[in-house]
Amino acid sequence: MNHQPFEELIFAGTELSLEDGLRLQLHLQSCEQCLALAEAWRQVETKISTSSLVEPAPGFSTRWQQRLRQDNMRIQRRQSLLVFAGGVGLALVFLILLALTVLFAYDSPLEWLLTLSNRLVVIFTLAETFQMSLIILQSAIPLGWWLSAGVAVMALCLLWIFSLQKLALNGRHPS
Ligand SMILES: [Zn+2]
Repeated sequence: MNHQPFEELIFAGTELSLEDGLRLQLHLQSCEQCLALAEAWRQVETKISTSSLVEPAPGFSTRWQQRLRQDNMRIQRRQSLLVFAGGVGLALVFLILLALTVLFAYDSPLEWLLTLSNRLVVIFTLAETFQMSLIILQSAIPLGWWLSAGVAVMALCLLWIFSLQKLALNGRHPS
């Protein structure tokens, strides 16, 4: 009996067509030599997949799906990073606006510096807390949520800055 075509089928693994797979199964039922080869090759394949990947992925389609998932995750992570960078840029603009507001609201430079440093400590603490929660939540939340959360945070920032501005102006002209 010619075993060579079946040996090729064995090495093709799970990339076989349905017809080839059935043909191989039929042959393996009657041929101990090819069955032993198939068994040995399966063990090699399992060893390769378990040593090179965290999750065992014996079949080609499983590996492919895993790759696709990883690609999607990478794209999503990059998009989150873009949203985050945009948020940071906007926050910087807000900070500059805030600094300018404070600069014009106080007469003494020392008073202004003290208030500004106090305010900056608060801002940096808030930013750090925000960043920490971002890192924790980054993997768990889909992009749509990120966008709406970003918009909400920006709206809150705007509100906060406008109220600060009002306060600062009231401080300069007490009535
Ligand atoms: Zn055979």
